[in-house]
Amino acid sequence: MAYQPAENRYDNMIYRRVGNSGLKLPAISLGLWHNFGDDKPLETQRAIIHRAFDRGVTHFDLANNYGPPAGSAETNFGRILREDLKSHRDELIISSKAGWDMWPGPYGFGGSRKYLVSSLDQSLKRLGVDYVDVFYHHRPDPETPLEETMYALRDIVASGKALYVGISSYGSELTAEAAEFMAEEGCPLLIHQPSYSIVNRWVEEPGDDGESLLQTAANNGLGVIAFSPLAQGLLTDKYLDGVPEGSRASQGKSLSEGMLSVENIDMVRKLNDIAQERGQSLAQMALAWVLREQGEYGVDTVTSALIGASSVAQLDNSLDALNNLEFTNAEIDAIDEISHDAGINLWAKATESKTREN
Ligand code: NDP
Repeated sequence: MAYQPAENRYDNMIYRRVGNSGLKLPAISLGLWHNFGDDKPLETQRAIIHRAFDRGVTHFDLANNYGPPAGSAETNFGRILREDLKSHRDELIISSKAGWDMWPGPYGFGGSRKYLVSSLDQSLKRLGVDYVDVFYHHRPDPETPLEETMYALRDIVASGKALYVGISSYGSELTAEAAEFMAEEGCPLLIHQPSYSIVNRWVEEPGDDGESLLQTAANNGLGVIAFSPLAQGLLTDKYLDGVPEGSRASQGKSLSEGMLSVENIDMVRKLNDIAQERGQSLAQMALAWVLREQGEYGVDTVTSALIGASSVAQLDNSLDALNNLEFTNAEIDAIDEISHDAGINLWAKATESKTREN
């Protein structure tokens, strides 16, 4: 039976405007970093994507190297798109990225025009689309002049192969420089994609220029889409009683068992108690927290929380976070008191490559 998306799919999702642009994203978006490679059954992938779309998730985030093997998440998503969602292409925001290691030799990594343009061409082939909606530079590259990377992004938009462009894991200062270049070029950066969660708050800390990344993004009209808002699963109840078989921590991938230290699990247990008092799962509270209203920039400080999911049940649980995004001051204070940096920011080193000079 051909897939028929739910007719009421737009009824319950919240859509937020991305920075100063005219584009809106769902408050929760789905990323395909893990769980969509060739190591996972295609039918499970298909079920998760169908369910996401049925619940108003219009944004699917990919990168050239998602898999394993690298590239297979784009190929698998492209197949599901072709087989089930082709007639809905204009209802979807599909993103991809280049910046981390993709192929051997000097042209498969970094921020050169050579790498970005050829990688995007490969991504379009794997996805089976003429353009992506958003194309990102995946990480700052201190060996490439910022101008070269930004002008490559500008020319990619001009070529029609991406409608918008963004950056990921750039620090505050470099983000401001990049945003200025692109504004002058008449091709403003749409969005920044940083890691952000209750236990990884670098985006709130002032950079060398005295501004936090969240402030810099807002001041330059960029939206923010927060990746790993569940700290790869740490901010859920799944590790409270050990490491379940099949979980990310059991697979020797990006969530090492070292991140599940006694201190971290003790903290997660206390956070779980607060979530329960709120009538939410911990995953739901962690997502609501990322999306919460933040002083100066209000509810749009973070445009979207970019989650992963290995099952439809997880996805459903996470999407139900949208039923309660409100926090009392007492809850925010209690979360602040309990939480500490969990040492899970794997991208910190990339972010440290700051200005063109260093
Ligand atoms: P999350 O922090 O949302 O972690 C997702 C994992 O948490 C799932 O795979 C699952 O673990 C577990 N989980 C999810 N929902 C629930 C739930 N409701 N209850 C219990 N457990 C749950 O995000 P990811 O780390 O997966 O990253 C999300 C996306 O962000 C990526 O797919 C990618 O698109 C983007 N990203 C971007 C990066 C960048 O450099 N720009 C880097 C990293 C990610 P399990 O699999 O064990 O079941």
